[in-house]
Amino acid sequence: IVSMNDLSKSYQLGEEQQTVLKSIQLEVQQGDFVTILGPSGSGKSTLMNMIGCLDTPSSGDYTVGGKNTADMSEKELAALRNKEIGFVFQQFQLLPRLSILENVELPLIYSGLSKKVRRNLAADLLGKVGLADKLSHKPNQLSGGQQQRVAIARALVTAPSLLLADEPTGALDQQTGKQIMTLFTQLHQEGKTIVMITHDEKIARYGSRIIHLLDGEIREERGQGV
Ligand code: ATP
Ligand code: MG
Repeated sequence: IVSMNDLSKSYQLGEEQQTVLKSIQLEVQQGDFVTILGPSGSGKSTLMNMIGCLDTPSSGDYTVGGKNTADMSEKELAALRNKEIGFVFQQFQLLPRLSILENVELPLIYSGLSKKVRRNLAADLLGKVGLADKLSHKPNQLSGGQQQRVAIARALVTAPSLLLADEPTGALDQQTGKQIMTLFTQLHQEGKTIVMITHDEKIARYGSRIIHLLDGEIREERGQGV
């Protein structure tokens, strides 16, 4: 569902041009759980921003759901980001004033679904991630691991074709990180397509494919995928 062909990304820094992603070839199949592993500064977040259509390549092609993103309007890209891709971040990025139920419901605001249906969908997903008894809690009343579960429920509420996670365990202790990875494994078994970024080798091993990124290049790939 994701295909990158000879994709590069450069930034202009004063006089100098820095190439952060170099000739990336990447295919993600439906049902894959791909982990992208690389040290700090290797270009992981830049690659994630490309996959999530939050940024545009300097050269090369990026096709998602069979459509070249270069041919898509800003409106189409926004629809893709809002509905087809679920984002999970290191720092959860929940809205502190809203209850967790309201946080999870938020991506459905413009879905055309009724308030009642939105509530039910959000409550179902919070049940799925083990937080059915905390719907009216505010994010700061939850532990880090629980907050990340809320963020995962929020990412899934629009039933996206792709779940994209940038260091989802980066702010969590090892034990809690493992619990989050157990949840990702479960989602993968249910058929979700997941792309996850990490600098942690142990965490990367939860994926069915591991892609090593070094200095903006794919250096090695392990695993068969799906
Ligand atoms: P980390 O593990 O620390 O999050 P990363 O692998 O996610 O690192 P990126 O954030 O993708 O790394 O950055 C890769 C390189 O691109 C870095 O050298 C960074 O300085 C550079 N870079 C990223 N974004 C920009 C930008 N907007 N302008 C200029 N340079 C940038
Ligand atoms: Mg990063």
